[in-house]
Amino acid sequence: MAGDHFFLELEPPEEQFRHSPHVVIVGGGFAGVHACKALANSNVRITLIDKRNFNLFQPLLYQVSTGLVSRGDVATPLREMVGVQKNVQVLLGEVTQVNPEGKQIIFNGKSYSYDHLVLATGSGSTFFGHDKWRTFSPPMKILEHAEEIRRRLLMAMEQAEQTPDQQARQFLQTVVIVGGGPSGCEMAGAVSELMRWAMKNSFKQLDPKKTRIVLVDPGDRLLRAMPESLSEVALKSLQNDGVEFLAKGRVQTMCPGEVIVGTPDGDVRIQAATVIWTAGVRASHLGKKLADVTECEVDRGGRVVVEPDFSIPGHPEIRVAGDLSSYSHTANGKPLPGMAAPAKQAGTFIGKDIAAIVANQSRPTFNYFDFGSMAVLDRDTAVADLRGLKFSGKIGWLLWAFVHLVLIPGWENRITLSIKWIFALLTQQRASMLLTGMPSQHMALDAADAHFPMQAGEGPSIASPGAALKAAMAHYSHQLSGIPQTEEIIDTSEETSTVAK
Ligand SMILES: Cc1cc2nc3c(=O)[nH]c(=O)nc-3n(C[C@H](O)[C@H](O)[C@H](O)COP(=O)(O)OP(=O)(O)OC[C@H]3O[C@@H](n4cnc5c(N)ncnc54)[C@H](O)[C@@H]3O)c2cc1C
Repeated sequence: MAGDHFFLELEPPEEQFRHSPHVVIVGGGFAGVHACKALANSNVRITLIDKRNFNLFQPLLYQVSTGLVSRGDVATPLREMVGVQKNVQVLLGEVTQVNPEGKQIIFNGKSYSYDHLVLATGSGSTFFGHDKWRTFSPPMKILEHAEEIRRRLLMAMEQAEQTPDQQARQFLQTVVIVGGGPSGCEMAGAVSELMRWAMKNSFKQLDPKKTRIVLVDPGDRLLRAMPESLSEVALKSLQNDGVEFLAKGRVQTMCPGEVIVGTPDGDVRIQAATVIWTAGVRASHLGKKLADVTECEVDRGGRVVVEPDFSIPGHPEIRVAGDLSSYSHTANGKPLPGMAAPAKQAGTFIGKDIAAIVANQSRPTFNYFDFGSMAVLDRDTAVADLRGLKFSGKIGWLLWAFVHLVLIPGWENRITLSIKWIFALLTQQRASMLLTGMPSQHMALDAADAHFPMQAGEGPSIASPGAALKAAMAHYSHQLSGIPQTEEIIDTSEETSTVAK
């Protein structure tokens, strides 16, 4: 396999590492970056490969989608984070294949050798076989998703502001959020604050109280991974913010502008201009590719089942960490959750373990420290379960804010976030409400054929609704007029490029 590819050989980052073992880390997320950092003082040469040139702090994506913070506040360039480490070389590229026999990976069509390989490519979203819904209902996994959600929310409000028809306005002010886990709850609270409070004074035609936010989940309570008492607190807090919880609800189908939810009492049809998907997670496709060539086991979520040292059977030189791995060698036998802290701890452990192997020292063992879990519900309320200690309300929020400021990389991000959060606490104002991301006629003012990233100047104006909202509005008006319209004739293809696969 590798024979078909150009073999890439690069100079070491520094001469002293010319003959050092080569550690290739794929994925610059929580696990990959911490593996890299744990090897800082080791006599190894590291190549960190990521398909993005930045590390993304996913826990705050919901704040990007609701305009509280901007992209630069939650993303840090990898070259800044670890590229300065003397034994690290950062490369931009997508790893598509592993050749365990030849100890090579394939990225950007090139083949590249390793002595130790760390795969930490994380996870993506799944629509449980309904991939068509992806266009109607953006998930929240990467920066582009968050910005697409913000664009849809803001554009729906802009359209509502200039729609005299009360019913149509109600439709534009309705948001459905699928998934009642931490991401869904965080999103619901933040959308409510955005549409009910932050915009209260600036949208003169809208009645913020008419905002309708429906949170749909198949379970009988929110935040099922948390104790019941905290689920109740979360539900009350969200209800106070005007969020409706549709429990035991499974999305049956959706098309632009409409979601049909099956419940024990029958199907519920919700007409909503904006639908957001936070329901399913699936490990990166690299896990399956690794299984194809090594016969290692992957679980139902596509995660690679790993050994106590995060290696795979028969290949001690290949480690898999973070969301891509399924690790059950914990004290209570429960698999590590797909969260930042376990990914960070696994990355650090793997780095230290490789350092010990290279230095011929005794190897460490991995002991997971479970800090607990938390979810923020609005700009000053959160629930937290920290090793059995339960917190909620403002104290919960202070803990949440502290933990996230510790976790996010970089002092600049910490300072900027603190200022923006304090500002939002005091004023309800949002710092990042720019409506961007549409092909713009304005570009054409400079030159008739000036290309905006997506298409030529004669594309739709930046001030016109995107294809998804147009399709939702078309569906809504067809419903009113009684003319049936099927999903098949609704084309939202213009936006598929902004919704990542
Ligand atoms: C919206 C949201 C909110 C969350 N909130 C919380 C929270 O509050 N608390 C918490 O603990 N956890 C939270 N999580 C989960 C947490 O972010 C993940 O568990 C964590 O990021 C996993 O770390 P990782 O290193 O495995 O993967 P990631 O951090 O996802 O990093 C994977 C990296 O691999 C790169 N990559 C992927 N495929 C390839 C490839 N083929 N080639 C090269 N590079 C590749 C990606 O670009 C990415 O940089 C949240 C997740 C989401 C999506």
